[in-house]
Amino acid sequence: MEELYQEIILDHYRCPRHKNCCPDCGVRVHQDNPLCGDDITLGVELEHGTIARIGFEGQGCAISQASASMMAESVKGQSVERALELGETMRRMMHGEAPDEDLGDLMALQGVAKFPVRVKCALLPWTAMRQALTAGMADGGDA
Ligand code: ZN
Repeated sequence: MEELYQEIILDHYRCPRHKNCCPDCGVRVHQDNPLCGDDITLGVELEHGTIARIGFEGQGCAISQASASMMAESVKGQSVERALELGETMRRMMHGEAPDEDLGDLMALQGVAKFPVRVKCALLPWTAMRQALTAGMADGGDA
């Protein structure tokens, strides 16, 4: 099982989804994790309270980049409310709490909770997502 999860993380790291696809998005935020050298810029475009477009740029360790790819994939097309809820579920999972729903590829990150120094890497894109959605909603949601 651990091996399978490893595969999923490496796959997202090598072939990130939604990378470099959103340089012109209305809302752009930046987050970094100097401890590890992770760096993420996230672009989001909201439409009627839904994430119409999302993409990231950045560099860093496999965990942070794979988490960004999985995050973008899992929240694209979702409502802002649902995306924030997923972010909260991920935060709790990274603190050792088993999620009460099947999160698909995101489950691959569950093992990261065992490595506190890596938790920040995994949560970096989610922090960026929450920041972008908060900014987007403050902008009226459809900017
Ligand atoms: Zn990292």
